[in-house]
Amino acid sequence: MIIAIYWFRNDLRLLDNPSFNQACRNTNFLLPIFINQNKAHDETPISQPKSSKLRKDFLEESLRDLRTQLKKLNSNLFELEGDFLQVFQDLQLQLDTRIIYCEEIQAEEELEQLDRLRDAGFEIRSLWQSSMIEPNSLPFDIADMPGVFTQFRLQVEKQKIKFTPPIESPTAIPPLPLITGIKNESSPLQVVIKDKLFYGGESKALYHIGQYFDRRLADTYKKTRNGLIGMDYSSKFSPWLALGCCSARTIANKLTEYEYEFGSNDGTYWIWFELLWRDYFRFLSFKTENQIHNKKNDSEEVSDARTNNYLTEFNGIKFKRWSTSYTGDSFIDAGMRELISTGYLSNRMRQVVASYWIYNLSGDWRVGAAWFKAQLIDYDVYSNQGNWQYISGKGLDHQGGRQFNIAKQTQDHDPNGIYQKLWLT
Ligand SMILES: Cc1cc2nc3c(=O)[nH]c(=O)nc-3n(C[C@H](O)[C@H](O)[C@H](O)COP(=O)(O)OP(=O)(O)OC[C@H]3O[C@@H](n4cnc5c(N)ncnc54)[C@H](O)[C@@H]3O)c2cc1C
Repeated sequence: MIIAIYWFRNDLRLLDNPSFNQACRNTNFLLPIFINQNKAHDETPISQPKSSKLRKDFLEESLRDLRTQLKKLNSNLFELEGDFLQVFQDLQLQLDTRIIYCEEIQAEEELEQLDRLRDAGFEIRSLWQSSMIEPNSLPFDIADMPGVFTQFRLQVEKQKIKFTPPIESPTAIPPLPLITGIKNESSPLQVVIKDKLFYGGESKALYHIGQYFDRRLADTYKKTRNGLIGMDYSSKFSPWLALGCCSARTIANKLTEYEYEFGSNDGTYWIWFELLWRDYFRFLSFKTENQIHNKKNDSEEVSDARTNNYLTEFNGIKFKRWSTSYTGDSFIDAGMRELISTGYLSNRMRQVVASYWIYNLSGDWRVGAAWFKAQLIDYDVYSNQGNWQYISGKGLDHQGGRQFNIAKQTQDHDPNGIYQKLWLT
């Protein structure tokens, strides 16, 4: 008789979730849980910016959707709060199991969590499942992976590396073990934001992907991807990808089917190209054994973004102006206003405001990255850190960073000031 816990982390879905499938196949009783670490963090007195309400809402919606789907298969999702180790120790007392299934996340805090659980005697059965391409399909050993994206891409393309097709949702889930005293519903959402663009959850993700391809937006992606206004200039897959409401393989599979039906073109190729960027930042974490997310990789003597007081001590006034959209540069301020108001920002504006923070305000990239982390509903540790490092020139790609000329960017992308007017009036 095998009783186990399934710990949903950044994989809030049933479709193409190999780790959850494995747990379903190999256990007799399974307790699906999510640990709300935002809530736990918010109670600690550190000066890491708190997650925005938009970010929390998107997560809550995603959890709700997952719970609904689990319930349809006679299971449930238990949302727990507090220190993750304590949560598992409490569950272990009730369930008499030390087996935890979960997805593997190759980032410092998340790896440390699994180490602490192993040290406490838990048996972790984890699977890597967040990239489009499997690490072991790469044409090189991950330790020898090129540190520059173009070289990485050329090798992947030259060898015609393909993704493994996504797997189906489980058709049955093992029954819940007998358990008492834990909350099984999250509190209702407090505020419904009427004009919100993104709603969390696997069903919303699959709907969004379907309509994106049905409306044939993929064909024009390359032409429109540097747009700033609206839902259609880019795919907007990122919020759902970030929480794992859908997998990159599901999108890649849809893209392949689409190309089969309508033919490939610049637009469809460029979506693949961007998904490959996403994989590249993930694989960098393996290559650098996660040091990429760590200050040990950075020789500058600035306060550590992972510890206390960096926001108050490091460039406090400049940070406040930048983060609250009062720099005085209206293009930058419009971008920062959009970020706070929606939890999303176009790739172009992310690059521009990040460059402004690093080069015009001489800010520490880690402070900027921490602000993005708190605001973005599509926050993803690999893509966020990777892109910030790329722009600041602190990553493996030592090409001296990418500084954007703000006046030129404004002229090129918002010549008539429509974007600025949209967010600043
Ligand atoms: C400073 C900075 C911080 C960023 N932080 C994040 C983050 O926390 N989470 C996140 O998902 N993306 C991040 N990005 C990458 C990119 O801006 C977003 O993925 C993209 O804007 C999301 O919108 P979309 O889904 O419409 O993208 P599309 O342009 O439609 O691209 C399709 C998908 O490809 C991937 N992708 C596209 N561009 C990139 C990129 N440069 N790096 C990695 N993957 C990419 C994303 O998964 C995206 O959903 C960051 C970029 C910068 C410059």
